[in-house]
Amino acid sequence: MKPFFPDCHTHTRQSKDSQVTMRQYCERALEMGIDYLAFTDHIDLDPADFSFGYYNFDSAWKEFRETREEFGNRIELAFGVEVSCQTSLVDEARAVIEGRPYDIVIGSVHILDGLGGDISSRENTPKMFEKYGVGEIYRKYLDEVESSIEQGLYDVIGHIGILKRHGTPYLKGLDLAGYEEQIDRIARKLAEAGLALEVNASGMWQPPAQPYPDTEFVKRFLDYGGARVTVCSDAHVLENLGRCVPELLTTLKNAGVNEITLFKNRKPIKRPI
Ligand SMILES: [Zn+2]
Ligand SMILES: [Zn+2]
Repeated sequence: MKPFFPDCHTHTRQSKDSQVTMRQYCERALEMGIDYLAFTDHIDLDPADFSFGYYNFDSAWKEFRETREEFGNRIELAFGVEVSCQTSLVDEARAVIEGRPYDIVIGSVHILDGLGGDISSRENTPKMFEKYGVGEIYRKYLDEVESSIEQGLYDVIGHIGILKRHGTPYLKGLDLAGYEEQIDRIARKLAEAGLALEVNASGMWQPPAQPYPDTEFVKRFLDYGGARVTVCSDAHVLENLGRCVPELLTTLKNAGVNEITLFKNRKPIKRPI
């Protein structure tokens, strides 16, 4: 039997940083044998963010319904969002989630308040590391991730460790000893909150050459009783749809993950891998 192939986090033209239509993704997904596909466009709530104010719910929902009408009997589609979470913008985040028909809501840390903006940006990340230093960036990033777990708004916590995307040269040789305790606490809180841990394959073809987060973190999450794991490509272009996800599923299986969690109407559904 063909192994189950999900992609739980992708960006379409409903995000400012992608041009791809939902229809294009579906055609490609069918060719690739993808079984479950979630469109999770960006909602950015900080005026400092590149795509602040871009997302239009009515437009995204309309495109999703049309696409589901055409492809819904051949591929399981989910309507989602990736909300940029910031402790200072919890009320704003709640306002754009509640009352909308999302299947899956991902909370991801992108912006570090007071430290120069977006930690996942090619242009911005090096400036942030140079100006504030690794220790300050790491501490603020982990604080924001920990806070996102406690906000009670999200089904999934996205790409933990994304600061490695453009920060790998700065993080090399970093002694993590000072952060071990907090990293461990984050794994435990995630597990205890019953949230899903996203394992994001994009890091596998980006500088860290490992997913966000790495397998060590996934194992800790499992050790604390974490039961929900999602996988994704975080594609912004068609070529990256499903990229490295089959390899990632094999790695996760070897690390002790037996099921992937999908979301439908924000309810978890487990699928064996
Ligand atoms: Zn993101
Ligand atoms: Zn994303």
